[in-house]
Amino acid sequence: MFIIQSAHVYAPEDLGILDVLVGGGKVIKMASHLPVEPAYGVTVIDGAKKVLMPGLIDAHVHILGGGGEGGAKTRTPEVMLSDIISGGVTTVVGCLGTDGCTRTMSNLLAKAKGLEEEGITTYVYTGSYQVPVRTLTGSIIDDLILLEKVVGTGEIAISDHRSSQPTKEEFARIVADTRVGGILSAKAGLVNIHMGDGREKLAFLRHVLEHTQIPASNMLPTHINRSRVLMEDGIDYACRLGGYIDLTTSSDPDFLEPDEIKASTGLKLALDAGVDENHVTFSSDGQGSLPAFNPDGTFHGLGVGKVSSLYREMRDAVFLDKVPLASALKAVTANPATLLKLPTKGRIVEHADADLVLADEKTLAIDTVIAKGALMVSGGQLLVKGTFET
Ligand code: ZN
Repeated sequence: MFIIQSAHVYAPEDLGILDVLVGGGKVIKMASHLPVEPAYGVTVIDGAKKVLMPGLIDAHVHILGGGGEGGAKTRTPEVMLSDIISGGVTTVVGCLGTDGCTRTMSNLLAKAKGLEEEGITTYVYTGSYQVPVRTLTGSIIDDLILLEKVVGTGEIAISDHRSSQPTKEEFARIVADTRVGGILSAKAGLVNIHMGDGREKLAFLRHVLEHTQIPASNMLPTHINRSRVLMEDGIDYACRLGGYIDLTTSSDPDFLEPDEIKASTGLKLALDAGVDENHVTFSSDGQGSLPAFNPDGTFHGLGVGKVSSLYREMRDAVFLDKVPLASALKAVTANPATLLKLPTKGRIVEHADADLVLADEKTLAIDTVIAKGALMVSGGQLLVKGTFET
């Protein structure tokens, strides 16, 4: 058991200075002062001058690796536990990408299970870019009902030269099946949608909202900040249709594509344009392949997207783009938790899972990470590593 004393709690809303008691993997109690009982083996963590926030949720990580668009040698490596927890992330949703052949659902589930055994919380989407969706059991609905870790479908690619070029009706069917599978399994039934830079932009999602009774909360289009045009369409989609939009954090902020928008800036643009702050999420696209550049800007090969970029962009939203901390935090905690229907995640509240990040109040540098009540990072040092990490 731990007591985190006198921390400034952002739950993600600002709750002021509180003591937080953690035990049995849960937040047990929160109050302005909790007595410490050393006889019960309670460890005190000093939270003074620190911010306590929920562990981050990253709803789009290629946990098995992704890429492969330049041949087999460009397949990116699997994620390691330390890449995730060092960035304050305690829940990930794993996905396949362009390659639904050498990356399989059974392999994805095994990797998710392994990360769970190593101490974090994991889920997966069924499928890949491809349509018809390559599932494990033969159908989206069956995967959702029968496979505990499956919470939705994705990442389905549209508006992209690498997509299967589904019709709007085929796309609507995927969203419908995912919704029904979600209802029958009491899960989110969320479709994670890879947006390319095609001219259709969000037309397929508009089609679903305009021609079916499916609510916007069953669809989360990602990479919305890949271009100014798509960002504008995403803002319109969120403002006029109540849609949800996801911004990708893993691009190197020093070498963005000419038209690309940094995720932190995208959040600021969306909020200034009137998008509901509960309708924007960040995800890292971690372990996806990324072009890498020399300091002089010349291309030197492929790099790998980092899960830790999720925290960096949340922090940059606060310090560079002047978004209030509670609003920036929502994009990486409460908002993905709501969309993914994870009631014990993404919020600091009594009975919630003890997924917590303690950071310096001035710099937001991470000091402590707790996942399901276990100390993973302390004093900025990793205490737990993945099975094959030295
Ligand atoms: Zn993608």
